[in-house]
Order: sequence, then C-alpha cells, then structure tokens
Amino acid sequence: MSETKTEVELLQEKLLMEKKHVAQVIDDAEYQKAMDFAEGYKKFLNDCKTEREVAKFVVAEAEKRGFVPFDKFGSYKEGDKVYYLNRKKAVILAVIGKNSISEGAHIAAAHIDSPRLDLKPNPLYESNEIALFKTHYYGGIKKYQWTTIPLSLHGIIVRKDGTEIEVSIGEKEGEPQFIISDILPHLSKEQDKRTLDGGILGEELNIIVGSRPFKSDKGSELVKLNILKLLNEKYGITEEDFLTAELEAVPAAKVNDIGFDRSLVGGYGHDDRVCAYPEVMAIFDLDEIPEHTAIAVLADKEETGSDGNTGLNSSYLRYFIADLARMEGLMGRDVLSKSKCISADVNAAFDPTFSSPFEARNASFLNKGIVVTKYTGARGKGGTSDASAEFVGYVTRVFNNADVCWQMGELGAVDAGGGGTVAKYVANMDIDVIDVGVPVLSMHAPYEVISKLDIYMANKATKSFFMAN
Ligand code: MN
Ligand code: MN
Repeated sequence: MSETKTEVELLQEKLLMEKKHVAQVIDDAEYQKAMDFAEGYKKFLNDCKTEREVAKFVVAEAEKRGFVPFDKFGSYKEGDKVYYLNRKKAVILAVIGKNSISEGAHIAAAHIDSPRLDLKPNPLYESNEIALFKTHYYGGIKKYQWTTIPLSLHGIIVRKDGTEIEVSIGEKEGEPQFIISDILPHLSKEQDKRTLDGGILGEELNIIVGSRPFKSDKGSELVKLNILKLLNEKYGITEEDFLTAELEAVPAAKVNDIGFDRSLVGGYGHDDRVCAYPEVMAIFDLDEIPEHTAIAVLADKEETGSDGNTGLNSSYLRYFIADLARMEGLMGRDVLSKSKCISADVNAAFDPTFSSPFEARNASFLNKGIVVTKYTGARGKGGTSDASAEFVGYVTRVFNNADVCWQMGELGAVDAGGGGTVAKYVANMDIDVIDVGVPVLSMHAPYEVISKLDIYMANKATKSFFMAN
C-alpha cells in the first residue's frame, strides 16, 4: 500500500528540523555497539573516582597502547604517540599527525575532577564521643544531597619523611564507609524553616569516622585517640600528617543501569568523566594516522574555575603545543591560532519533573545524541566563549559526515542561572573552540544519570573530529 504525502507533509519534511531519539536513527547492530561501549565506561567510572585515579588509569592504558612520555626536546614523526602527565592530576595525550604542526592541532579537552568533599587540613575532631572529619566542599553542590549517603575516602598523604601513601577506603566489598548525618523529620522543625539552599550548611558537612574510645579511665577525646591509633597502625601517620594530605570524600555508590530497559547509567562523577572516557577511547582507537596532530586533554580543577597549575587556565597546554611547534622551528602561537578544539563537557539534560529552568526549544535532551553548546555563561552571555557560526558549521559538518547524532542545546533558560566550562580558557589561547558533550540529569548530585546512546555518540564524535581535515 503506498501513501501519497500531502503538500503540507512534503513541505514539513523539506523545511522543518527534527531531532530524533538516537534509537530511532541507528540500526540494531549499532545500538548493540553503544550498549557494549557503556560497559567499559561503567567499569572505568567505578574504578576511577578522583582526578588522580583517572590520570593514573589513563597513563597505564596509554602505555599499553604504545604512548610514551613526551620529551619536549625530542623529535617525533607521524603516528608517534606521546603523553604528558601534569602533577599526577591532569594528562595530555597526542598522536602526531601527517600534516606539519603549522596546520594546527585538533584538540579535545575534558575535565577529570568532579564535585566532592575535601577534608580540611586539620580535619579530625571528637564531639560527644563521636569522631568526625571537617570538610570543605569542592565545586558547586547542593549540600543537602550529600548527607545520609555512604561515602568513601580517596587521596594521598605525604608523610614527614616525604613518602606518599595512597588512600582508598570504602570502595571494596567489606571495607568501612563514612557518612554525614542529618536531623530526623520529627525534630527538624527549626531546620525546616531554612531555605533549600541553606538546608545544610558548609560547616555541617562533617563526616562521621568512628565512635569507639580507647579503653582507659583517664584522658579525654579517647574516640579520636583510638582513630589516630588505627590510622597509625595502618598508614604510619600521626595527626600532623593530615596537614600534608589531600583526601577527598566521594559517594561510595557503585554504577548501575537505570530503567527496566537499561538505557541509562546512574553513577557518581559523570561530569565530566562521561566525556573524558569517550575522548580517551577515541584517541586510543584511531583507525589511521590523522591529518592533524590529535590532542586529548584531561584537565583538573574545572569545577573550581580552572585556576591552579593543573587547571586549563594555566599554561601547560600552551607549553605542550609550543614544544611541538619548536620541533618544526615554529612558535607556539603559529600552531595555536590554527588549531581547533572541542571542549568536551556535559550539559544539563531537560528534566521532565523540573522543566521550568529550561527553554525546551533550546535545551538538550537525553538520547538525542551529543549536545553542541555554542556558548555558556550567565547574565547576557557573561564569561563565555561564543563559538562563531563558521566554527559551529565546521564542527557539525564533521559530525554529519560521520553519522554522529547531535543536538544543539543551551545551559538552561535565559537568566535561570548559568555556568562555564574550559572552553573560554582554550578560546583565550586564540583557538577555535566549542562545547560538545553528553547531556546529564541531576548534574553535580552524588548520583547523576546519563544515556548510553549519548556517551556512544560522544566517542564517535570525538573520533570524527580527530580524523577530520
Ligand atoms: Mn563539567
Ligand atoms: Mn561540573
């Protein structure tokens, strides 16, 4: 039976834009590929909960694939693979392209830090025979979400003799975990009057770490003393060693499929490991040598504004490119101004339950592919890099040619709030840049949600960008 289309239907088909659910676009074989890709990601997300853990994982995997430490005075030929580890918290991977570096590099930049609770330098205290850690939250969090959930502890302690101890407690089966208390509803009459924003205050994010005293008739703060005794036995540290430690409390929850159809993934720190992982896998799995040198950047400190020497507002990417340029007798600026970058960071997925901060015609949606974000910022595009029409056109042509499903999305409605990414710091180096990432539900919550189809498209998109002319 054949149907004749009406004039209106034909015109609609010709003129109107429709962004479909990825599952309606790809075939069953590709759908299965996407599901398989998510399995690797889920393992990565469970194993790597902090920037240090991601950096360590990436370097180990890179070495397995023939990447070698970058020698800034070395010389490299097309197809060579190098990596640069910045202070164990940020990584740059590169595959040298066929073209002269004077043609510019193709850079993808994601970040590997996520919102969390850092321990204060002097964290341990005792109150009413309970031992607790003081914390200072890192990144933008809704503080009330971080109470009454199991937490694990990650990081390093540098002892007085300079030796470093790596810490990870609360992830493996049978290990103890930690928790922040909240007041029961029966007695929260006072707390209920607070605003949601102030429901839990920063100085109330105190983590319970013990309650058993050292057995003695004498002395005070014996619970704290007993905790220090345990830590001394396990790590050889004293209270003073906390001053030279970097310890981060993160949600202990494991990654899981969400939904009867298993289409979504719930986990801690999708922002921005959901972009970092497909980016790394893209540069690992390039089918052939790219025309332009491909660079994958994994930055730290994005969640606190990209400042600091491991954040992208510092100079290490600029220096790395200058070192590549020098090998061909060029200045770094000659390469930077010819380079192109996708800032691989997440955007807020439209939330059907909390729809008012979104403007649906310009929001991103789960399962419609990666979201291209022309600008971020707040209050009249303040504090953003606004990608040019030419560059948006270039990047989306690359994606279309590679059958990448993508959508355009703003971060929320005008004046609903706002945010930023590393894009502006890349743009400030005179590089063309645009945000391209995965839409996330409940961003910055201890347990965020993404779609398996979207992360698959992020991998496909980054690969196509690395291989593009
Ligand atoms: Mn992010
Ligand atoms: Mn973020």
